[in-house]
Amino acid sequence: MIALTDLTRRYGSLTAVDSVSLTIARGSFVALVGASGSGKSTLLRMINRLETPDTGRIAIDGADVADQPVHQLRRHIGYVFQQHGLFPHMTVAANIAIGLRIAGQPVGNRVRDLLDLVDLPQEVAGRMPDALSGGQRQRVAIARALATEPPILLLDEALGALDPVTRDAVAARLVDLHERLGLTTLLVTHDMAEALLTASRVLVMDRGRIVADARPAQLVAGEGGPVAQKLLTVPRHQAERLAALRR
Ligand code: ADP
Ligand code: MG
Repeated sequence: MIALTDLTRRYGSLTAVDSVSLTIARGSFVALVGASGSGKSTLLRMINRLETPDTGRIAIDGADVADQPVHQLRRHIGYVFQQHGLFPHMTVAANIAIGLRIAGQPVGNRVRDLLDLVDLPQEVAGRMPDALSGGQRQRVAIARALATEPPILLLDEALGALDPVTRDAVAARLVDLHERLGLTTLLVTHDMAEALLTASRVLVMDRGRIVADARPAQLVAGEGGPVAQKLLTVPRHQAERLAALRR
């Protein structure tokens, strides 16, 4: 569904994304994991044209994104940022409906349905974003991203700012939505545990390149090379220390 071919983006002498080629199958849940600065956001931003590649090509269902009007592309791709990106001066309902309004689509019961979809109570519809918890705001951001029923959902560290309990709950809801709506989901994260526990395929990025492409079970079994295994050391140590408490 999404095909990247030899994609490169440079900032001055720095190559943020370095000749990346990969395909993402329709309906898959893929995590892109890597240290801060490895090029994850740049890669994601090029897919919906928030960023322009220097060389290479991005195709969605065979069509080059560079040839598509941006507004059409953005309706086709839901996008969730780390800092939710909600408009502070607009109600939750208005925030959720903005994509529909820009697209000239009727709002109707969509806000109600979308709040249900992300498991938020209807009463938050009239509130301003700053009157919500972090987890609620991130759910609103997901609802907004899904408003135009895009087949593709991109998330850039969307769970990163949440406390661990909220984060687990929102991650579980996300996996559930992915399945129920038949989405093609690409989740960017620096957290290997989050990648392993949500995605069915994990891409590891290092200095602009994809250095591993594997199933979670393969990575946990020690495959994927040194960068992947280094990212696994923190969750491994935590699991070992928790297990040690029981002895
Ligand atoms: P990640 O999301 O993995 O943390 P980014 O894609 O944001 O990484 O950044 C990759 C590299 O590109 C980093 O070294 C970053 O400083 C650099 N970079 C990103 N955006 C810009 C920009 N607009 N101008 C200059 N350098 C940038
Ligand atoms: Mg980033």
